[in-house]
Amino acid sequence: MVHEQLGLVLRKISKRAKETKRNENEINLIAVSKTYDAPEIKPVLEAGQKQFGENRVQEAQSKWPDLKNEFSDIKLHLIGPLQSNKAGEAVALFDVIHTIDREKIAAAVAKEMAKQNRQLELFIQVNTGHEPQKAGVLPEDLEAFANLCVDKYGLQIKGLMCIPPVKENPGPHFYLLRKYCDQLGFQSLSMGMSADYELAIEFGATHLRVGSAIFGARDYG
Ligand SMILES: *Cc1c(COP(=O)(O)O)cnc(C)c1O
Repeated sequence: MVHEQLGLVLRKISKRAKETKRNENEINLIAVSKTYDAPEIKPVLEAGQKQFGENRVQEAQSKWPDLKNEFSDIKLHLIGPLQSNKAGEAVALFDVIHTIDREKIAAAVAKEMAKQNRQLELFIQVNTGHEPQKAGVLPEDLEAFANLCVDKYGLQIKGLMCIPPVKENPGPHFYLLRKYCDQLGFQSLSMGMSADYELAIEFGATHLRVGSAIFGARDYG
C-alpha cells in the first residue's frame, strides 16, 4: 500500500537525520508523482503528504489543479526541464522550480513571476557529472550564472539541485553540490532520489525527490 511505503520512507528519513545529527525539520520530502494519476496520488495526500514533484508541465496541469482544489496547502515542485514557452503555465501552477539552468529560462521565469505577481522558490540545476545529454549548468559556469540570475533578473535563488549520473556513486556529486551551495551562500540542496536519499541526508540534502520508493516502479518516465 502506498501510504505504508510513504510511512517507511518518512521513518528512514527520521532515523538517518538523527544518526547524522541533522535537524529533521529542514528536510523536505517531495513525493514524485510523475506518471501516476489522481487515484494513485490521493492515498498519499490523504496520508498527509503535502509536497509533490512532477517533471512535465503539461502532465502536471492534467491532474494538479483539481487535486489542489480538493486538498489544501499543497506545494508543487517542478523537477523536470522547463521550456521558456511553458514558463507562464509553470509559474501559475508550481510553487517551486528546481531546474533553472540557462539565461532564457531565468528571464522567462522572472518575467512571468512579475506579471502574475507570484514568488516561487527557485533552484539552479547543476550538471555535476558533465553529462552531455543532461540539463543543468556546468560547474565551471555556475558562479557566473548564479550572479546573472540575481543581478540581472532579480531572482532569489534558494538553492542548487543535481541528478548524479546513474552509474556512478552519488556521494561525490552530493559533496560537490553542497560545496558549491556553501560557496555561493545559498541555503537549500535538492538531491537524493529513491535509491540514495539516505546518503543525500548525510551530505546535507534539504529537498529529497522520492518517487518509486513511495509509488512503486513506474512503467515509463
Ligand atoms: C523521476 C525523478 C525523481 C524520482 O526518482 P525515483 O528514483 O523514482 O525516486 C527524482 N528527481 C527527478 C528529477 C526525477 O525526474
